[in-house]
Amino acid sequence: MNNISHWADGMAVLDLLPSNPLQEPARLAWTAMLNRYSHFQIATWGSLLIHEVAYFTICLPGFLAQFIPAMRKYKIQQSKTETWQGQWRCLQLLLFSHFFVQLPMIACTFHCAEFLGLNYSWETMPNWWALLAQCAGCAVVEDTWHYFLHRLLHHPRLYRHVHKIHHRYTVIVLVFFHCIQTMTTASQELVLHIMTCLCYVQAPFGLQAEYAHPVETITLGFGFFLGLLLFASHMALLWAWVLCRLLETIDVHSGYDWPWNPLHVLPGYAGSRYHDFHHENFVGNYSSTFIWWDWLFGTDGAYREKQKLVQKEMNKKCK
Ligand SMILES: [Zn+2]
Ligand SMILES: [Zn+2]
Repeated sequence: MNNISHWADGMAVLDLLPSNPLQEPARLAWTAMLNRYSHFQIATWGSLLIHEVAYFTICLPGFLAQFIPAMRKYKIQQSKTETWQGQWRCLQLLLFSHFFVQLPMIACTFHCAEFLGLNYSWETMPNWWALLAQCAGCAVVEDTWHYFLHRLLHHPRLYRHVHKIHHRYTVIVLVFFHCIQTMTTASQELVLHIMTCLCYVQAPFGLQAEYAHPVETITLGFGFFLGLLLFASHMALLWAWVLCRLLETIDVHSGYDWPWNPLHVLPGYAGSRYHDFHHENFVGNYSSTFIWWDWLFGTDGAYREKQKLVQKEMNKKCK
């Protein structure tokens, strides 16, 4: 009995949290959607629309940053510039992946929602803070799946057949820099010029977030659904989790480390510098969202050493 009253007190405290200021317009829009479309259309075409609009909207600031000189100082790999050809190639594969790999997966959303018993009604929609808490739970589950599978994908037997595509730009850059180290200065300048013209020297950039082999898209993507198996009760969570996951994955692939990035308030959030190190070095930092698994298994050692050196250099400059 005592436990029940404590639980009821807790719920009363949660009720004191501010309500969503956009609640009324959101209710009208949600009700209009339910009146107009079937559950199949909402789950399939609604999910596709949200994924595409959110993906390219979230990529936009990182894409525009390359044209703004003031943003240059926030770029992580300063020596590697974005190139039109590189970004165009990435966009082509990305659109192929979105429509030929992810669309069939999204087409299964309705049946998954039925299997999970997801609700669509406005009355059963969780509060904004409950949605956030459920998204955080999904992120922890996905991060765990991502860490172990991503680490496995770096096994030499799997890497060259599957995961290499996601690292494609960096492989070319490393081979290239290794080759030019043995050349004379004049030859180096010539080769650098040719490579710049070929436009293939790339550091991670936002669009690359979902640039991957279909097998990787499906297997790593499975982690996205694992959290839903545990927490999902409403279609709104599926869409909220899509937005959170895209925000995170595009941020860590943006190639920029913005000091005002609000995602850094999340406890243990890895961020772009962390994942950029993985793309630069191919080993360590296998997690997607949080730093915990890498810390626990010691796969972030090289990154921590590098961060210490960077800090030392900064301290020297300040003296
Ligand atoms: Zn990556
Ligand atoms: Zn990797």
